[in-house]
Amino acid sequence: MKIGVVGTGYVGLVAAACFAENGNSVIGVDIDEAKIKALLEGRIPIYEPGLAEIVVANVAEGRLRFTTDITTAVRESDVLFIAVGTPQDEDGSADLQYVVKVAEQIADAMNGPKIVVNKSTVPVGTAAKVKATIEGRTTHPVSVVSNPEFLKEGAAIDDFLKPDRVVIGTSDPATEAVMRELYEPFVRSGKPILCMDNVSAELTKYASNAMLALRISFMNEMANLCDATGADVESVRKGMASDSRIGAAFLYPGLGYGGSCFPKDVKAIEHTSREFKAPMEIVAAVERVNARQKTVMLPRIEAKLGGLAGKKIAVWGVAFKPRTDDIREAPALFLIEGLLAKGATVSAYDPKAMDHAKRTLPASVQWAKNAYEALEGADALLLATEWNEFREPDFAKVKSLMKQALIFDGRNIYNPKTVKAHGFDYVGVGRR
Ligand code: NAD
Repeated sequence: MKIGVVGTGYVGLVAAACFAENGNSVIGVDIDEAKIKALLEGRIPIYEPGLAEIVVANVAEGRLRFTTDITTAVRESDVLFIAVGTPQDEDGSADLQYVVKVAEQIADAMNGPKIVVNKSTVPVGTAAKVKATIEGRTTHPVSVVSNPEFLKEGAAIDDFLKPDRVVIGTSDPATEAVMRELYEPFVRSGKPILCMDNVSAELTKYASNAMLALRISFMNEMANLCDATGADVESVRKGMASDSRIGAAFLYPGLGYGGSCFPKDVKAIEHTSREFKAPMEIVAAVERVNARQKTVMLPRIEAKLGGLAGKKIAVWGVAFKPRTDDIREAPALFLIEGLLAKGATVSAYDPKAMDHAKRTLPASVQWAKNAYEALEGADALLLATEWNEFREPDFAKVKSLMKQALIFDGRNIYNPKTVKAHGFDYVGVGRR
């Protein structure tokens, strides 16, 4: 198939590369000239495991091209994916300006019938809005599909090539047939392609993210209850997770969820629920609990150190989760800002996200070349992102580098007994 993917960010670039990998002819389009220049030179603008190899191989095979010229991409494609950002607007709703802009650009470039696919996370009614926008500017026929993306950064290639399910929102049988043909190679293992109406498809994405965020917020409150009662959240978590009705996924407490999706998507579904006068109180609570959780660790560090002025805190991890360089809404950023505001100095290290973080955080943050360098003379270590390389450090070396042997484990990756046996004072989230 001839496919155009508009937006070559975390979702669009992965989608473009994976569609090409399955033999399609794909053009990736972006307005960001630096991004396209990098891609044309064989450099991948984001860190995503396995992505570079697929992009380079498919460019070499001639199946994957990149351009800033959307007109060419529209004219040469039968199916056009919209994969641009849908950030949070001031009132919590999803800002659709980039999606609508792309719809206008597609309409103005159309040279025949097209299938336009909303891959961006968009609120109910967006497919209708995109269709109306395009039909208002061209007489060429268009069919608009809602095809939300469920990939996880850090495992995006695997998730895209082997999805748990593919959701396709369309009421047009011919369009459904084309979409099924496109996705069939991705679900050979028997995973379902679920076809439904546009609105249900649009809502499925928000419902899924809100449920995952809900599990995290639930566990964060449970961890705080464990702290208050003297229970150990790891024991409670394992006890819950062994129940097949509950399962183990997304039951890990921490410093509050971040990332480019959960925070904005939870707010957006809450906004939709209010707009349609079917308020989702539980979703509103998920958001409130998360905002509060982001503030839990800082006072603990402050109390333990007897104030933060003049103290040095080493921070391991600034990405919002491991295996990505994405720092959008990362709890580490919030905490580092808080530490600095209280007069602490911060030395930080992240395997992949430091370039992005340097552009966002104050210049006073000291950036270390490796995890151990960040510890030199530190009064405490704050583990904010559970990268694998932080899981089994040389604790003797860690202790010898630090001024005080004190660890705040924001992701509960260390065994308190082991860490204490190495002579550390340990504070986790809901841990005995
Ligand atoms: P991103 O910011 O990484 O990428 C968006 C890209 O679109 C940017 O490169 C930007 O330059 C480009 N763009 C904007 N306007 C354009 C235009 N008019 N023409 C061409 N390019 C344009 O965003 P992302 O993380 O890939 O997310 C995209 C969408 O997918 C969002 O709606 C998001 O909620 C959703 N989503 C993201 C993830 C994720 O893990 N990142 C997962 C599932 C769904």
